Amino acid sequence: MELNELKQAILSAKSISIVTHKNPDGDAIGSSYGLANVLNAINPCATVIVPNEFPKFLNWIENVEQTVVWENEGELVENKILSSDIVFCLDFNALHRIDQVGEIVGRHQGIKVMIDHHLSPEDFADYCLSETTASSTAELVFEFLSELQFTEKLTPGAAEALYCGIMTDTGSFKFPSTSKRTHEIVAELIKFGANNGKVHSLVYDSNSINRLKILGHCLDKMEVVQGKVSLFTLPKAIQEEFSLIKGDTEGIVNYGLSVKEIQASAFMREDDGIIKISFRSKGELDMNLFARKYFNGGGHRNAAGGMSTLTLDEAKAYFIESISTYLMNSVTTE
Ligand code: 5GP
Ligand code: MN
Repeated sequence: MELNELKQAILSAKSISIVTHKNPDGDAIGSSYGLANVLNAINPCATVIVPNEFPKFLNWIENVEQTVVWENEGELVENKILSSDIVFCLDFNALHRIDQVGEIVGRHQGIKVMIDHHLSPEDFADYCLSETTASSTAELVFEFLSELQFTEKLTPGAAEALYCGIMTDTGSFKFPSTSKRTHEIVAELIKFGANNGKVHSLVYDSNSINRLKILGHCLDKMEVVQGKVSLFTLPKAIQEEFSLIKGDTEGIVNYGLSVKEIQASAFMREDDGIIKISFRSKGELDMNLFARKYFNGGGHRNAAGGMSTLTLDEAKAYFIESISTYLMNSVTTE
């Protein structure tokens, strides 16, 4: 489908759904509301849908309270998606990443648009903006809005949502995915009214005392594999002891990489019936391939995720074995 045809479809749509991935992060919610707020200023019919709740540190994003959560309102989500003229799929590229919402999107008969920056996109969209070198989906949403000549409707609130997406997915402009273009777009967003200092503060200075204590616990218990890999594990009992809430463990995995010799880091959390895992690396070490090969997951080279149905102890042993093999067979130069 051509962009101009899509533009006409957006302008004449009666209903638009914007769907983003499970366990939505700053880029998922930021890119979705950057898009939703602009589309709603032009043709007010867009709704953001998520499979499950988003973390509290994103609750300042303009209109985020209007998000429809599939886990809470399954029937509404189904009706909304199936009756939408257009479904935007943001920050994911495979329908299983949105759980059972993927099955509903699969049944949707209208136009499907994918805007995403993960590797190996599935072929389900009529219009696809998939750039694996982009820092974030929010960056691509800005490019998309520019190409549609919709940026004049970019309010400060929409600009701050996109800024939040770029900031969180680049680790505050530090990951190698941060390009000259990223900084140019961020400068544009500030021109459109984004208060950059305010967004940093809203996202990074909103820790609860509890989160700091969980972080302290995890750092204290950090294990090191072969002097090169940091490993954090968080059993259910400890999560209960600290009354863990969504978002409390976000980013803990990154702390391992702040050690000079550490090349990869993993964070394993005991969830309901599964172990959810985050992987991070520095330089060439490809955690997307690792997550795909060993943990039924994926993501990017330096930031990926996966899961295991083993017990936490078994998953940990399996990780130590698999990462050791992987390191032996990988290029690890930075
Ligand atoms: P996080 O560790 O922050 O949850 O995720 C890091 C990156 O890996 C994100 O880009 C996320 O989309 C991706 N990711 C996380 N979990 C999974 C998973 O189970 N499967 C796939 N394919 N990607 C994942
Ligand atoms: Mn992203």
